[in-house]
Amino acid sequence: MTRFTTPIGEIAILHLGHASLLIQWEGKNIFIDPYSEVADYSLQPKADLILLTHHHYDHLDNKALVHIDSERTVYITSVEAAKSIHGANALKQGDSFNYEGIEIKAVYAYNIENRRDDGLPFHPRGEGNGYIMDFGGYIIYIAGDTEIIPEMRELGKIDLAFLPKNLPYTMSDEMFIKAVNLIKPAKVFPYHFFELDKESLMSKMPEGVVMITQ
Ligand code: ZN
Ligand code: ZN
Repeated sequence: MTRFTTPIGEIAILHLGHASLLIQWEGKNIFIDPYSEVADYSLQPKADLILLTHHHYDHLDNKALVHIDSERTVYITSVEAAKSIHGANALKQGDSFNYEGIEIKAVYAYNIENRRDDGLPFHPRGEGNGYIMDFGGYIIYIAGDTEIIPEMRELGKIDLAFLPKNLPYTMSDEMFIKAVNLIKPAKVFPYHFFELDKESLMSKMPEGVVMITQ
């Protein structure tokens, strides 16, 4: 559990595993990409807000959603994921949604180098989302399944970045470090990994960036 103070209140973030996060803010439970393989969602609180980056099984998982869904749950998803979530707010990259004062913007998340055997990227540009969450000026970036991409240059100030680190779907260690150098977040949290060489990554962090892992 990591805790932060933002201009609109305290937030606590729990990495449940893989790309799954629980953000607690002002009594609200905000889940990111809940995945039943990494946590027992029957033990989790009901969701006020659920953000889904894309429709892959490790990000859109009905076995997790069924436990945390309630009448008050608001969904923000990619356009593709919205096809299987009734009443979801589908965001294209560049679109925003304001949830109780948190401004949430969809940004690009895609592969350039890493492709399937048939030559198509694992994550084609325009399909999946990353999200920028603005808590009164405290900015959290949830990158989604992405490599280092040119659009990362335009993200602006980031206080806390969740960046994926696994091959072949997202970033190698080298790409991860390059992405950190490009984004220059105050804090970076590696997620969506199979294995993590913390020491090695920490030793390569650029000046002024703190890597946190829980
Ligand atoms: Zn994916
Ligand atoms: Zn994934």
